Parts: sequence; C-alpha cells; structure tokens
Amino acid sequence: MKTLLYKSDPARGKVWQKILAEIAPEYRFIQWNDLDFSDGDPAIFAEVDFLVSWIPPENLADRFPNLKVLFSVAAGVDHFDLRQLPASLPVVRMVEPGLTQGMVEYVTFAALALHRDIPQYLQQQKQQLWQSHPVLGAAKRRIGVLGLGELGQATLKMLNNFGFECHGWSRSGNAPEGVTGWAGVEQLGEFLSHSDILVCLLPLTEQTRGTLNAELFAQLPKGAGLIQVGRGQQLVAEDLLVALDSGQLRAAVLDVFDPEPLPAGEALWQHPQVWITPHIASQTQPETAVTALLANLQRFAQGQPMHGEIDKTKGY
Ligand code: NAP
Repeated sequence: MKTLLYKSDPARGKVWQKILAEIAPEYRFIQWNDLDFSDGDPAIFAEVDFLVSWIPPENLADRFPNLKVLFSVAAGVDHFDLRQLPASLPVVRMVEPGLTQGMVEYVTFAALALHRDIPQYLQQQKQQLWQSHPVLGAAKRRIGVLGLGELGQATLKMLNNFGFECHGWSRSGNAPEGVTGWAGVEQLGEFLSHSDILVCLLPLTEQTRGTLNAELFAQLPKGAGLIQVGRGQQLVAEDLLVALDSGQLRAAVLDVFDPEPLPAGEALWQHPQVWITPHIASQTQPETAVTALLANLQRFAQGQPMHGEIDKTKGY
C-alpha cells in the first residue's frame, strides 16, 4: 500500500480523503492536521511515498526518506522554494479540468464585463447617470493573453468562440487555432499593441516578477483593460494606479495581490475603476483533482512523464 500525505486546507482534505477511499482504497491517505507532533515527527513520515501540498514541510529529504513525488495542490509552484528541494525529486503542479474550467469562467466574465464597459456603467449608476457609450461587436475587440499554458490556451479558446480577435504571448508562442501567437521579449511590444484587454496568466518566476509595470502599460492601446489572474508579485500596483488615473488604462479586474490578503486601506480597494476578488478566479476541485492525481500516479508507476511535471530550472 502506498502512503499519500496531504498538507493543505483540512476541510478540502476531508473531501480528497472520502473520494480516494471510494475510488482508490489501495492508497493510504493521511492529513497533516490529523497527525500528532507532540513527540516530534510522527513515525509514519518514513512511509510517505507522495506529498500533496500547498506549503510543503521543511527538510523534505531528511523527514521523508521514502518520498517519491511532490504534488502541488495549485496550478503554480511559486510557493515552493525549488532550490531547497532535492534535485532528483519530481515536482508536479496541478492540472485538472475543474481548475481549468474555473479560470475560463472567471476570465470570460471579466473580459465580457470590460468589453461591455460594465465598470463604467456601475459608476454611472451610483451617479444616477443615464448615458450610453458605443457598443462594439466582439470582432472589433482584441484580447491578449500573457501565458499560453494550460489555462491561457483554454481561456483563449473560449474567448475565440465569442468572436473576439484573440492574441497570445509566451516564450514559445504556441497558440491554439484561431489565435495569433507571439513569442518572446522581441514580440512583446507588438503583442501588447494588439491587446485592448490584457489578461495575465503567467506563472510567477524571476522573469515574470514585476512584469505588469508602467513600461508595459504604456505599450497597450490607450484605454485598455487589465485582467490580472496570475500572481500578485507580477503587478506593480503603483504603476497600475498611475495608468488608471491618466486614462492609459480604463479599468482593471484583479484577483491576486502582494501581499494577500490585500491590506485594508490600500489604494486599490478604493479605486473606482478597479474590481477586486480575493484570489478565487479558480480553485482545484477535489473530485476532478483526485482523478488527475491518480492518473499521474499511474504514469509514475509505469515510468512515464507525469502531466504538469515542472522544469525546476525554468521554475514552472
Ligand atoms: P503553464 O501551463 O505552466 O503555462 C505557463 C505559460 O507561461 C506557458 O505558456 C509559458 O510559456 C509562459 N511563460 C512562463 N514564463 C514566461 C516568460 N518569462 N516569458 C513568456 N512566457 C512565459 O501554467 P498554467 O497552468 O496555464 O497556469 C498559469 C498561472 O496561472 C499559474 O502559474 C498561477 O500563477 C496562475 N493561476 C492563478 C489562479 C487564480 O485563482 N488566480 C488559479 C490557477 C492558476 P511556454 O509555453 O512557451 O513555456
């Protein structure tokens, strides 16, 4: 019997436990919060084969001598200190349909809201102001997505179905059918000039930290909208506020912040053209996540590459 240790939200862990017991009873599931640490590390640590975690415990190699794979409960791995992990330990981020669907829903909601000037109309409602603005068809609106990974591609496919002119940017520029792909820093400026609404779906790495800054905003068409669903440290909040106040940006929908929770009193909370959600754009859904995990455990047992296995040198 293989042993799986879960170290994340306990309430969601209970759901994982129930599903695993039903569909894969051959795995022993242990929750971090159920363990007794009064005499130091529990003896069962020596038997842990797989760790599913948000923030992993320290000294993994010493404390879990039998550990074979570290799984992230989230799509990103930026909360792991990759330099501290044993070089030979595979690290797998979460790729599962429930998480993808959540992100597609959120970005579609935000893109349609920006496309139809809803932030502006909500402001007008507060002033009891009846004033219409030109309604543009989707085909006349260009949406650019930074990041063409699992989530960026799925989101672009949905936006493409609405008839938006879709653009995507990544290192490699591999875009789905119907989407114009742009690759690397050389093509970033051109990509940005085609983005009336810009969506950030990049992982947080040394290269992407602070990416959403004044220099980038200046390359967008005047009056562009921003949807930030990557990670908080990618956004320079002061630069965003300046861009909004100058009219360079029209509105921003933000789901991720640095730090989280966004402290009370921060200017972003008060800005009339900013919508804020508390990092809920998408969440791992236990039902579909357990199935994805089991499929990866099977791949691992057969010596095949796992879906979502990260490249530690790239950081995603
Ligand atoms: P992914 O499949 O790993 O895709 C990452 C994409 O970013 C790839 O297309 C990659 O380019 C591109 N990229 C990375 N570094 C780059 C750089 N320096 N320059 C240009 N392109 C770069 O990741 P994913 O599953 O789509 O998830 C993306 C991120 O969404 C996660 O890391 C997480 O931060 C965020 N997220 C947020 C929430 C939320 O609730 N707000 C939920 C889930 C995920 P290549 O393909 O060319 O390598």
